[in-house]
Amino acid sequence: MSDERRRAAQDLAGEALRHLEWLRENGVREVPRPAAPAPAPVQRAAQAPAPAPAPGGPPAAAPAHAASRQPPPDPAGQAPRPAPPAGAPRPPARPYTLNDKGCGSAALLAIREGLGECTRCKLAGGRTHLVFGTGNPAAELVFVGEGPGADEDLQGEPFVGKAGQLLTKMIEAMGYRREQVYIANVVKCRPPGNRNPEPDEIEACEPFLRRQLEAIGPKVIVALGKFAAQTLLRTAVPITKLRGTWASYQGVRLMPTFHPAYLLRSPEEKKKAWADLQLVMAELGKAPPQR
Ligand code: SF4
Repeated sequence: MSDERRRAAQDLAGEALRHLEWLRENGVREVPRPAAPAPAPVQRAAQAPAPAPAPGGPPAAAPAHAASRQPPPDPAGQAPRPAPPAGAPRPPARPYTLNDKGCGSAALLAIREGLGECTRCKLAGGRTHLVFGTGNPAAELVFVGEGPGADEDLQGEPFVGKAGQLLTKMIEAMGYRREQVYIANVVKCRPPGNRNPEPDEIEACEPFLRRQLEAIGPKVIVALGKFAAQTLLRTAVPITKLRGTWASYQGVRLMPTFHPAYLLRSPEEKKKAWADLQLVMAELGKAPPQR
């Protein structure tokens, strides 16, 4: 077998595994055995190519696979994905790649593919982009916020508005570049009017965050703001009491601190947030910056 064919076979096996995992996550326990293949069409190799449109004339007829609603042939010669059983959730709308935001490892990519064009909660209806996450897939430090705002919804990346710019400055003050850490939210689609996510929305979305954190394996999580801290820690204690004290999420050290948007409104609280981040730096063996 040539290297090219071996790589194609490995890619196909990986894709099949990810698809099976996606089905399993969505409650599918059995995949029906496909029917015996139909006999190969005769004279396939002799099929004429689709005619080019005549200048000024009507467009050429669509290829047969478009008319039959079948997916087009895979250019790598791979078989199309089998259709999920009736009643199963929709499969991913497109192939995601390691270059998609927040998908920089095979494990994260599999989670992103499992989400697909997610409609598991009512936030799906109002989003422009599903905001999966961004950053280093093996980061030692992960920041978790509440949910995407307007800028994030438009750009498909968490913390890119004014609060995001402040978060970037906080990250850099800690001695990291933004791309060295990972940033995500409790919910991945923008709540309308920036309201707080509701319990059913959190219940639907948080498992994906939990799996992202498992895939990344950080040493420390920083929960940004009341909502993220209270949600991850399953508590109603106010952020003013939670901040600055170590907690644990799924066995990972978690530091609650103020949300950058709150710090923009209350700059006098920045000192407290900086004190919290210095505790994180000490935990990660980061030297305080030279002033
Ligand atoms: Fe799916 Fe999460 Fe978006 Fe809800 S918020 S639709 S669960 S990705």
